[in-house]
Amino acid sequence: MRFFHSIFNLFYPVLCLTCGNHLVKNEYLLCSSCRHKLPETDFCNTPNNLIESTLQGRVSIVAGTALLYFRKKGIVQSLIHSLKYKNRQEVGIFFARWMGNQLKESERFKNIQGIVMVPLHPKRYKQRGYNQLTVFAEELSKELEIPVYKDVLIKVGKFSTQTKKNRFGRFEKINERFHITDNDRLNGKHVLLVDDVFTTGATLEACASELLKTAKLQISIATMVVSDY
Ligand SMILES: [Zn+2]
Repeated sequence: MRFFHSIFNLFYPVLCLTCGNHLVKNEYLLCSSCRHKLPETDFCNTPNNLIESTLQGRVSIVAGTALLYFRKKGIVQSLIHSLKYKNRQEVGIFFARWMGNQLKESERFKNIQGIVMVPLHPKRYKQRGYNQLTVFAEELSKELEIPVYKDVLIKVGKFSTQTKKNRFGRFEKINERFHITDNDRLNGKHVLLVDDVFTTGATLEACASELLKTAKLQISIATMVVSDY
C-alpha cells in the first residue's frame, strides 16, 4: 500500500495533459474544457450498445461498456498512447475514477464482485516493464470497493500474435490464447473484465471464453475506449 501511495504521488499531474493549462481543484489530468471535448459513449446506460452487439453470439456477457470513442489524432488517441507506451499511469487513474463513478450509478452493472485484467504475454511484460491496466484496475478496485483478482488469467502460446483480416475487412489478432489458473477464486462470481481498447472484440472474446470455463461465472466488460470504425 505504501508503495502504491508513493507511485500515486509521482502520478499527480499539475498541468492539463492536452492544453498545458494549470489544473484547478477537482480537476485531474485534463482541464474541464478539454474533458468536455471528449467523445463520450454513454454505453453504461445503453443496452445493446456496440460492445454488446459485437460480442453477441460469440461469448455470453452480462453487460459491456466503454467510456469514450477512439478517435485517431485526437485527445483520446494521445491519452491511450501515453498510457500504453510512455508509462503515464495517471491516465489509468483518470479513466478508473470516471469509470468507477459511472458503474456505481448504473443499474446495469450491479453486483460485480471483482476485477480481472486482460493479461500481457510474459515476454511483452518483460519488454514493456508494466501492464498498462494495473494502475487502472487498482484504482477502479478502490472506487468500487471490490478486489482485483490478480494472475487468475495468463496469456499463453506464441509471443508474436499473427493478424488476419476478418469478415469486416479489419485486422484482428488470431490464435490469442489465455489460460485460467485459479477457478476456485472465481467460482460463482460476477467479474468485470477490463481492457484499454475495444476494437474487434477478439481479445476480450478469447479471455471471456476461457474465464467462462469456471462454474457459474458471470462476466461484464469495461474498456477505456471503443473503436467504432
Ligand atoms: Zn486542457
